[in-house]
Amino acid sequence: MKKDIRAYTYKELIKEVEDIGEKKFRAKQIYEWLHVKLVDHFEEMTDLSKSLREKLGKTYEILPVTMLERQQSKLDGTNKFLFQLYDGNVVESVLMRYKHGNSVCISSQVGCRMGCRFCASTIGGLVRNLSASEMVGQIYQIQKIIGERVSNVVIMGTGEPLDNYDNFLRFVTILTDEHGLHISQRNITVSTCGIVPNMLALAKENLQITLALSLHGATQEKRKKLMPVANKYELQEVLKACDAYFKETGRRITFEYSLVHGVNDTEEDARELIEILKPRNCHLNLIPVNPIKERDFEQPSRKSALNFKNKLEKSGINVTIRREMGADIDGACGQLRRRYVQTCSE
Ligand code: SAH
Repeated sequence: MKKDIRAYTYKELIKEVEDIGEKKFRAKQIYEWLHVKLVDHFEEMTDLSKSLREKLGKTYEILPVTMLERQQSKLDGTNKFLFQLYDGNVVESVLMRYKHGNSVCISSQVGCRMGCRFCASTIGGLVRNLSASEMVGQIYQIQKIIGERVSNVVIMGTGEPLDNYDNFLRFVTILTDEHGLHISQRNITVSTCGIVPNMLALAKENLQITLALSLHGATQEKRKKLMPVANKYELQEVLKACDAYFKETGRRITFEYSLVHGVNDTEEDARELIEILKPRNCHLNLIPVNPIKERDFEQPSRKSALNFKNKLEKSGINVTIRREMGADIDGACGQLRRRYVQTCSE
């Protein structure tokens, strides 16, 4: 089997190039073709000799990430993309346009095995991990399609990135490399349901990326009801791992909390949440739950969500309610892929 050349970090590519008997500077050229000019075929690398392009094509390939569908919001310019991978699997990515630039939300796995109760992406379980090449590929395709630079990246699409840790780390290395797209570490946010050992490993990497922790419940009992992963990693351990991340990197943690009517949005929930967050230097992002048809979770009313927010704010916590982007093309995260998979199997 051929090796996917887009999955190598710059350092690794130098070694690969030397291993096939080529000069080191070729790695710089090839990396630029792959990660700056964003080509999908060796034939497009026009400053390499034809024989070198053919030689590369014998050992390596560039796995395709191909757009199948694009939905554009009429309300705020949000776009959803459905991409097909080399083996026929599909993943979705979302482009959000802000004043400060283009932000892309990518998937890190096909499906997910974490089983969070309110999440559409996990309903069919995990199919497979995405490679680093398939993760950068989503961003590169979007950048090519819109003809504008992507400046911010969030890993909050389908999948649990820290359940695909090595590929995730490789993805960050490739994306932030000065020889490639050179996206600033500070413009990358990774969201995790709380895989403690890998949160600790990430803290040790001492990167400047933002860590977002999906909290969703302020006690171990509550969290267990919504997130099966809490059976494996206790809330206290998860919070300690957040503290370790902050200590190592100086980066403030973002806590995500999906507000579910009657489940985690009561006065008591707010009090418990304050207890956890008050001592920490953090940001809280409230997400009124996106109802999915397989579950009967409901959003709280706007008034009650604001009430919840105000309570936290009054105790000095930095809190926002996530702005709903692309409401007209929505369906909760993961819906586009699920709809596609269902239609295809009918
Ligand atoms: N696996 C990562 C990324 C998940 S998606 C994680 O668990 O953090 C990003 C955020 O959206 C997570 O906080 C996730 O819990 C939340 N989310 C998933 N489905 C949702 C829904 N239906 N409504 C609101 N938030 C949801």
